[in-house]
Amino acid sequence: MAASTPRVPPPRELLRPLAVPHRLLLGPGPSNVSPRVRAAGGQQILGHMHPEVLQTQNRLTLAISGTGHCAMEAALINLLEGRDAVLVGTNGIWGQRAADIARRLGAKVHELLKPPGEYFTLRDIQEGLAQHKPSMLFITHGESSTGVLQPLEGLGELCHRHGCLLLVDAVASLGGAPILMDQQGIDVLYTGSQKALSAPPGSSPISFSERARYHHTVPISSIFCLREALAMLAEQGLENSWEQHRAVSTRLCQGLQDLGLELFVKEEAARLPTVTTIKVPEGYNWKEITAFLMDKHSIEISGGLGPTAGKVLRIGLMGYNATQDNVDRLLRALRDALQHCQHSRL
Ligand code: PMP
Repeated sequence: MAASTPRVPPPRELLRPLAVPHRLLLGPGPSNVSPRVRAAGGQQILGHMHPEVLQTQNRLTLAISGTGHCAMEAALINLLEGRDAVLVGTNGIWGQRAADIARRLGAKVHELLKPPGEYFTLRDIQEGLAQHKPSMLFITHGESSTGVLQPLEGLGELCHRHGCLLLVDAVASLGGAPILMDQQGIDVLYTGSQKALSAPPGSSPISFSERARYHHTVPISSIFCLREALAMLAEQGLENSWEQHRAVSTRLCQGLQDLGLELFVKEEAARLPTVTTIKVPEGYNWKEITAFLMDKHSIEISGGLGPTAGKVLRIGLMGYNATQDNVDRLLRALRDALQHCQHSRL
C-alpha cells in the first residue's frame, strides 16, 4: 500500500447527522442561546469586527478569542510585571484560580481570604492594601462558585489611593447585575459570552484602562453571535436587564424557600442574581438530584465548585434563560426531584 494512503478511518459519529438534544441550561453557564443569536452564528464569515460594551469609554475594549479563563489570563499577563505584588480576594474558586495564574507568572501573590458565601468589605480590602502594598487587586464581582455578589462601590477609589490597579472578574455577572466600569474606577474588566449575555462560549469582552496590544485571527462567527447578543442587551437596556435578573432571582429564592430549601448566602443583598446557591438538603445525594433533573426534565443545574463542592447546588438564570416561566418550570422539577430522590436519603 502506498505510504500516502490514509489508514485511520473517520470516527463513525462524524458520518451520522449532528443531533443536539434540547436542554434547559440552568447551571452556572453556559445559558441557552436565543434563536436570533444562533442565526448570527450561521452568517458567512468576514475579516473582523470590534464590539464595545461594559459602561466604559476605554478605547481598548475588545473581545478575547477564548472563554473567561483566557480573559482572566490576558488581564493578569498584561497587568503584572516581574515580581509585582498582587492582592487577590479569595472567597471562592475564582480568586483561587487567579492566584494560581498570577503565581505561575512569577508575581508575589497575597490572598485575602473570606469564607465561601461571604464578600469583602472596604475595610477588609483597605487592610490588605495597607499591609501588602500590591500593584493590583483582583476581585470577583459574581462569585459563581458560591453565589455571592461583591459590592464594588468605593473600591476603585480605594485602590487608586493606594497606587493599586483594580481588576474585576464579571464573567458570571455582567448584564445580570449592575456594574459601571468607569464610574466605579475599574481598571480592567472582563466577562464571558456564555452567561448573562447568552452567546456561545469562546469570545470574552474585556476592557483596559491601560495600554495593551492583540493581533490574531478572530473567531468571526462567535463575534457575530456576541455582537447580536450585545445588540439584544442594548435594545433591552442594561437597567431593564438588571431588573429582569433581580426579579427572576427573587422569585426563585422565594420558591426555593417554599420548597423547604435553604439558601447558602444568608444576606439577601449579597446574593448574586445570576447564580443562586442552595445548601444540599439534609440526607440527599446532590448528584442524584442533578441527574434526576437532567434525565426526567432535561434541565441542567449543577453541584458546587471548589470550596462549595458537595455542599451546594447551583442554579443559573442568566440572559435568555432569566424568565419567570423557567423559574416555575425548575421549581416544579425540583419538587419532583425532592420527592423521587428520597430513596437516596443517606
Ligand atoms: N470567572 C467566573 C466568575 C466564572 O463563573 C467562570 C466560569 N464559570 C470563569 C471565570 C471562567 O470562565 P470560562 O469557563 O468561560 O473559562
